[in-house]
Amino acid sequence: MSLQTSSEIDIIKAATSKIDQVDFEKLTFGSVFTDHMLVCDFRNGAWEKPVIKPYEPFVLDPSAKVFHYGQAIFEGMKAYKTEDNSVWLFRPEENHLRMNKSAVRMCMPEVPESIFIDGLKELIRLDEAWVKNGKGNTLYIRPFMIAIGSGVIAQPSTQYRFCIILSPAKAYYSGDVKVLIADYYSRAANGGIGAAKAAGNYSGQFYPTQLAHNAGFQQIIWTDDATHTKLEECGTMNVFFRINDTLYTAPTSDRILDGITRKSLIDLAKREGINVDVRPVLVDELVEAAKNGSLKEIFGAGTAAVVNPIVGFQYKDEYFELPKLEKSYATDLKEKLTNIQYKLAEDTFGWTV
Ligand code: PMP
Repeated sequence: MSLQTSSEIDIIKAATSKIDQVDFEKLTFGSVFTDHMLVCDFRNGAWEKPVIKPYEPFVLDPSAKVFHYGQAIFEGMKAYKTEDNSVWLFRPEENHLRMNKSAVRMCMPEVPESIFIDGLKELIRLDEAWVKNGKGNTLYIRPFMIAIGSGVIAQPSTQYRFCIILSPAKAYYSGDVKVLIADYYSRAANGGIGAAKAAGNYSGQFYPTQLAHNAGFQQIIWTDDATHTKLEECGTMNVFFRINDTLYTAPTSDRILDGITRKSLIDLAKREGINVDVRPVLVDELVEAAKNGSLKEIFGAGTAAVVNPIVGFQYKDEYFELPKLEKSYATDLKEKLTNIQYKLAEDTFGWTV
């Protein structure tokens, strides 16, 4: 290991790389990590100097508040390598902003740009060989923050750890996705933490999703908690509905995560001349549209899969199959967005960094 010190970040390089042990053709999403990680602790009311060091386990006190009160937030983003071997991020400032919104909601300290953005760039520079070029290959980036202060008393911690880990990934393909519309369980509530990327939102989804899996569905379309009449998100993605030639998606709220893919697709669709209507879509409307043939597509939108087309949905006891389209908005928008991410098309929006 060698220690390099800049005024901003300490860098401890791994003595050897694990890269030769990795089969990049057979990657299970989120299971392989690169040689280094960034770690930065918050103590005594301030962020300490970040350090980039070899990827390794943490040692934490068993009474650390993250284990008991779930003060934990994260982000999900990707880096892409172009044909000229340069590496690009997609709207990283949006992830930084969202991380800090989550932090405020969870009573955690905000992470400065010099740690989140500059630290991330430095980390990727060091592990650049782990980003493979070719469309579909990406480096999945997982920034997260946990409460490391000790004490089993239900109060916000005074000590936190911010960390960034990197995981090489292939194009995400989930197969045919059938979804169940939630009529009992909820992932988020008014005044709750649904708009934060808080760990508890995800653990709360596991059980209802497992029930849906057992019934033959891959995902749940979440509805509003108060009435279960409005369609909100799909699994851990935002959701779009195409009725006739209009694309609908719910407005963001306390219950809905402000997805970066969602907002990029809205801008892209508008640029393509597609009519986009951001408003709550009702379950009854969807069922009616499926019955009268005006429902053309449903797709999830998120960083991991970009766009995830849905083949059918079930509401209560009725299952509705979606039509198979020659030219779908889902495929077309995914192609256009990934072309921007891989710099295969001009980035007129200025999204790539
Ligand atoms: N909703 C939820 C609940 C999510 O976890 C995600 C994934 N981050 C999204 C939507 C999509 O957000 P993004 O497009 O920023 O990945």
